[in-house]
Formats: sequence, C-alpha cells, structure tokens
Amino acid sequence: MTVRAIQAKQMVASHARPDPWFGLRYNFNIYRGCQHGCIYCDSRSLCYGIEDFDEILFKANALERLADELPRKRVKGIVGTGSMSDPYGPVEADLKLTRGALEIIAQLGFPLHLITKSDLVTRDIDLLSQIARTACYVSLTITTTDDALAAIVEPRAPSPSRRLEAIRKLSAAGVKAGVTLMPVLPYLEDSDENVTAVITQAAEAGAAYVIPAFSVTMRDRQRDYFYAALDAHFPGLSDRYRRRYGERYECASERAPRLRALYDTLVSRYGFATRVSPWGPPAPARQPTLF
Ligand code: SF4
Repeated sequence: MTVRAIQAKQMVASHARPDPWFGLRYNFNIYRGCQHGCIYCDSRSLCYGIEDFDEILFKANALERLADELPRKRVKGIVGTGSMSDPYGPVEADLKLTRGALEIIAQLGFPLHLITKSDLVTRDIDLLSQIARTACYVSLTITTTDDALAAIVEPRAPSPSRRLEAIRKLSAAGVKAGVTLMPVLPYLEDSDENVTAVITQAAEAGAAYVIPAFSVTMRDRQRDYFYAALDAHFPGLSDRYRRRYGERYECASERAPRLRALYDTLVSRYGFATRVSPWGPPAPARQPTLF
C-alpha cells in the first residue's frame, strides 16, 4: 500500500443547512483512499474519482488550509470528518494530521463530529475533551460484534471489541461517543442476534447514541468489489444479492422493518439518543439594562 502527499486547493465543504444524519454544517477529509479495506466501502464508487482506493493520499497542506478556511466561516456549526476515508487509518499514527486538525478545531471553538472504525482515536482524548466543552461527538462504526466476521468484511480495521473499548474510554473522559450501526449487510449482519449484540454492547460500553441504517448502498465499481469479496468468502451469496437487488442503489435488508422495531425497543430500554443532537451557538449574553 503506497502513501503519497498531495496538495489541497480547498479543505472545508459547507452544507447550506445541517445534514440530516449528523447535523454537519461543514465537512473535511484529510485522506483519500483508506487502509481499512472494508469490502462494502461506498468511497470506491466511480463518482468519487479515486482511481486506486488502496493508495493513500494525504493532503500535506491540510492544516494550513483548515487554519485559513475555518475562521472565515460566519456561522459556527458542527464540523465533520470521516465520511470518505477513515481519519484514523494506520498512517495517521505517524502523520498526526487528524490530531493537528483537532487542535485547530479546539482553538477555534467549533463543535465536531467524527466517524471512525479505529481505536487510535483514543490517542486524542485530550483534544476531544477540550472540544467537548463546545460539543464533540465521536461515532465508532460497528456493523457486527463478531470479530471473525468483521475480519472478513472490514479486514484491516481494528476489531469491534477494540472499538467498543474506545467508546468506553471516550465516554469515561466525557466525550459523547456513539455507534453508527451501518451498513447492516443483508444475509450476513441482519439477524436479531447481531443487531441486539451491537446495541447491548454499545450500552455496556457507555455509548450515548446508536444510529442505524438497516441496508447497504451499492454503486458500479463498489458493487463489483463487494461481490468479488463475497465470492471469495461466501460462495453463492453474490447471486442472492443480484436476484434481490439488481442494479439498485439502496439495498435494504428484507428484515429492516423487524430490525427497526427491535432497535426502537432496545433504544428505549437503554435510553439512547437516536441521532446526534442539533447544535446551535450559545445565545449571546444579554446586556444588563439600567431600568
Ligand atoms: S473505514 Fe470507512 S472509508 Fe475506510 S474502507 Fe472502511 S468504509 Fe471505507
């Protein structure tokens, strides 16, 4: 796997209004390509224009760009990272670019949402706790609690057990950590047992929220990669996908309604939030009046 520096013209993308999943107003990605190698990864789709997803490109001027662009944002809102590539892939252990970005976000007082599959995030608990004074949400994606299955579908990501341990540490440090239970792969991860195990173990680890999608999305090159991996590990399963989903983008589990009902029951049992709470800047202090 090669790692190569590139230069970014622009780092921060803005959303006109907070996105419905995580309330993001802004988004950035330091890396292109990802070392975790999840077989279902959407970022392999042609529309993102990443020719070799297994080559890791890092934006060498990322911190300079962030320090320039973020202070110009007139409206404060949640800054997100992790949508296209994991901000805590193994390469981050040496490069520390995500850590540098957190330093900038902490200094500027922006709220943060980040999404990862790596317990390397706990290295930065000091900065995440600082950001939590404004608002800080760390979502660990866990699609199964079965470490052996995860080693096939997310082959180079830290195991789900390690991700749950990360949630434990983050929560103990006062950072709102939760689980993104997505995707839920039809026929592999969509059993009651798996969904119950993820939610229950998230509760035991102190997660503040669990956000699910009982489906997987599929497009062109991403679908080809996924089906080739299914053929290598689960013979016959890709045909089942083809028969049920054809060329569809949104591939919902047949069991989605049942899983949603199960999720609702467990979420109210454990008192989880079902989404990242919307964030708004604190109201300005009122001027004292003389009369
Ligand atoms: S961690 Fe995320 S970005 Fe990386 S391969 Fe897995 S799904 Fe793709």
